[in-house]
Amino acid sequence: MDEQFDYHLPPSFSPHRPAVQRVLAHLCEGECQSFGDILEWCETRGDCSQAVVCPTCGNQFLIDEEDFAELQRWTIANGGVYACGVRWMD
Ligand SMILES: [Zn+2]
Repeated sequence: MDEQFDYHLPPSFSPHRPAVQRVLAHLCEGECQSFGDILEWCETRGDCSQAVVCPTCGNQFLIDEEDFAELQRWTIANGGVYACGVRWMD
């Protein structure tokens, strides 16, 4: 039996996208400390936009689909530990 056990903890998932960093900085490091709601609306041409809304102060942060995907991954990985992130309905 070799000693190749991997004892180090997995690195916490760090967001790379600037919009995601802004959202998490607000929801996780500010006073609001909460799970942001996802707001989605569509223009008449079918262009849809998404934003994260802070339920505490009402601030909105525009995000795109890839930002949203990263926010979901981050929340799944870290949301329970940090008690912040986003919440969404499947
Ligand atoms: Zn806020």
